[in-house]
Amino acid sequence: MGGVQSRLSIFNIFRRKKNSKPVRKRVNFNKKLLDRDAVKVVQTISKAGFEVYLVGGCVRDLLLGLKPKDFDIATNAKPEQVNKLFKRSRLIGRRFRLVHVMFSARKYLEVATFRSGQVKTAKSGVIVRDNCYGKIEEDVVRRDFRINALYYDINTEEVIDYIGGLTDIESHQIHIIGDPMVRFEEDPVRMIRALRFQTKLDFELSDEIKTAIHQQASLLSNISPARLYEECIKLFHNEYGFKVFERLEKYDLLKHLFKQTRKNDFIKIALNNTSNRIKRNKPVTPAFLFAVFLWQAQNERYQIIKKKEKSVYLAMSQASEEVIINQIKQVSLPRWLTARIKDTWMMQNRLEKMQPKKIEDLLSNKGFRMAYDFLVLRSQSINPELKSVAEFWTKAQSEHSSLDSHTPHKKNRKR
Ligand code: ATP
Ligand code: MG
Repeated sequence: MGGVQSRLSIFNIFRRKKNSKPVRKRVNFNKKLLDRDAVKVVQTISKAGFEVYLVGGCVRDLLLGLKPKDFDIATNAKPEQVNKLFKRSRLIGRRFRLVHVMFSARKYLEVATFRSGQVKTAKSGVIVRDNCYGKIEEDVVRRDFRINALYYDINTEEVIDYIGGLTDIESHQIHIIGDPMVRFEEDPVRMIRALRFQTKLDFELSDEIKTAIHQQASLLSNISPARLYEECIKLFHNEYGFKVFERLEKYDLLKHLFKQTRKNDFIKIALNNTSNRIKRNKPVTPAFLFAVFLWQAQNERYQIIKKKEKSVYLAMSQASEEVIINQIKQVSLPRWLTARIKDTWMMQNRLEKMQPKKIEDLLSNKGFRMAYDFLVLRSQSINPELKSVAEFWTKAQSEHSSLDSHTPHKKNRKR
């Protein structure tokens, strides 16, 4: 059912829009916000005779005067043709075939060929294949929100709008393209994207999006835990993570990502702390956030296990294992990350004991910094009785570093 319905809805939008001319608006971006490499890639493709634009979130952000996180490029050149234009590029993806143009080990730009709205969906309505190439006006309607479906022509300095994205940007509104029930069925991740953009941009969600989220929330459980892990990083590693958290809770989506997590002051202070670190360009790790999100559940499990298990260590260890196993059914966590989460939890007890003989040992432990930050934030929120413990470890570090003056001070240490 879902498959047929979604194909029809996409075609209807296309039919309606096929003959309508797009709005072309000359805009004057702050050129400093444009990525030089993206401009070079666009110019190379354009010189080879193809139609090519910057597209999606980067155009939206440039119009709002924000620095885009990444620059996406759309063209009528086929992936193989793009691949031939750039020495350092590679073809990737199965569901979506794309080209990555490499600039360094960490930096690449994504070039996508215009796709038609013809998608192959599974019984559940989820898109399984979307590889039919098309024209720009077809590419527009397969995108999620109108604000994300704007194209920028570098040569003419014009934004091309087929669907009302410019009006939405001016009126601070988020509208979905097509029927929200169907679009969320095709890809439930669009629901969390809606909340993320609402928060990042401080825009209003359309009423139909709000209603559809309430009705389709449970579809998020169909998304692979690996994809949700990537999405979670985008949700919380930013300057507005706590607001996103509150909205996920409000729209009842949180339980489909973190069923063991409930809002508390520790989560609030930790998410705000992460946002502040990002503002100050300090490194952050998802291990910290997951450790915070699951701490209460771990504690509750520990209390139950402790009744039967005498060893604090074994009870803590078992509680940690169980909570993590429950979590990865929803959002997968890489092994290195679960190890760091467990370390942080296990170290809380050792830090709380403040044993003089163990100070050196703990200070030189790889996981100390993260465990200490975790303890400090606990003491500032749910465990005010730990203030003196936190102070003890703050002092221990400064005393240790003055004694150990030949150890070079590590700047920007990762917690
Ligand atoms: P940001 O990069 O700031 O998180 P973005 O809008 O650029 O936001 P990306 O994930 O980089 O988001 O995707 C780039 C573009 O691809 C989007 O603007 C949108 O047009 C399209 N897109 C991304 N994900 C989806 C999706 N799940 N469904 C439909 N279109 C999507
Ligand atoms: Mg982007």
